[in-house]
Amino acid sequence: NESKSKFPNYPGLERWRLIEKMGDGAFSNVYRAQDREGTAGEVAIKVVRKYEMNSMQRANILKEVQIMRQIDHPNIVKLVDFSESRQYYYIILELAPGGELFHQVVRLTYFSEELSRHVIVQVAKALEYLHEERGIVHRDIKPENILFNPVPFVPSKNPKPKQPGDEDKVDEGEFIKGVGAGGIGQIKIADFGLSKIIWESQTMTPCGTVGYTAPEIVKDERYSKSVDMWAMGCVLYTLLCGFPPFYDESIEVLTEKVAKGQFTFLSPWWDDISKSAQDLISHLLCVDPEKRFTIREFLAHPWIRESGPTPRDER
Ligand code: ADP
Ligand code: MG
Repeated sequence: NESKSKFPNYPGLERWRLIEKMGDGAFSNVYRAQDREGTAGEVAIKVVRKYEMNSMQRANILKEVQIMRQIDHPNIVKLVDFSESRQYYYIILELAPGGELFHQVVRLTYFSEELSRHVIVQVAKALEYLHEERGIVHRDIKPENILFNPVPFVPSKNPKPKQPGDEDKVDEGEFIKGVGAGGIGQIKIADFGLSKIIWESQTMTPCGTVGYTAPEIVKDERYSKSVDMWAMGCVLYTLLCGFPPFYDESIEVLTEKVAKGQFTFLSPWWDDISKSAQDLISHLLCVDPEKRFTIREFLAHPWIRESGPTPRDER
């Protein structure tokens, strides 16, 4: 039955048995796959259709791989291997079996403050590593590129009583405690397709050679990092209420809203969310990049440093 595989034939990928398609993009399909030799276990393979790309797009794929080679962090998907055939690039990646955070937001409607914190702190740790240790900006932080490892089923000690009409809803509180298969354990950032190196770790360090660097370069560096901080603000907003801070049917209107930083903590959805969380988001969705929180300021904010349930969770 191997010959009747439901997947295309990919020359050079014989080592891996494709199991299922996990996602796709403009030029790629992402599969879950298993090592026939058994040493690497399960992986994700991003198969990129080289033959549909021009030379610039191909160069971008090689850059994506080049950047991933330099990265080693528990909250970032690791590069396992890279190879190519005449028609395809094969990017073999550490598998994040839970898939996209995006699907969990859809499934749960919104996250509790505790679960949102659990998620965003891990996103922030990944960004801290990229920004401060590697001089890399991601530039495409969004719920589709935030993946996770689920935690195994652990029965809750005191499950919340279900309200009428809630019968089908998964108790969001269960997720943080690992109850319910598919609960969010470890976060893994993926997709370095738009990422950029702002300084090489060999030639420059955040505090080392900076004395010789021109102000416009230092500013550029700050601005590009702040792009990820804005995106993280949008993600945190979305996790807490279930809809994004900026939305409009018309691209023109949406662009205008973003440019002016026009968002609100819409009632009634935000009524029970802590003022502390709202304060943090306001410091991220700040139009002036000079005033926007850096990753350090983010991690030092009281809402991040708090632990345990916050008002909404206690109802
Ligand atoms: P694109 O540049 O096309 O967005 P991504 O690298 O984001 O490519 O991959 C597309 C989708 O494939 C992701 O949104 C996710 O659903 C899935 N995916 C990518 N990498 C992994 C992985 N390591 N583990 C699990 N799923 C993945
Ligand atoms: Mg993507």
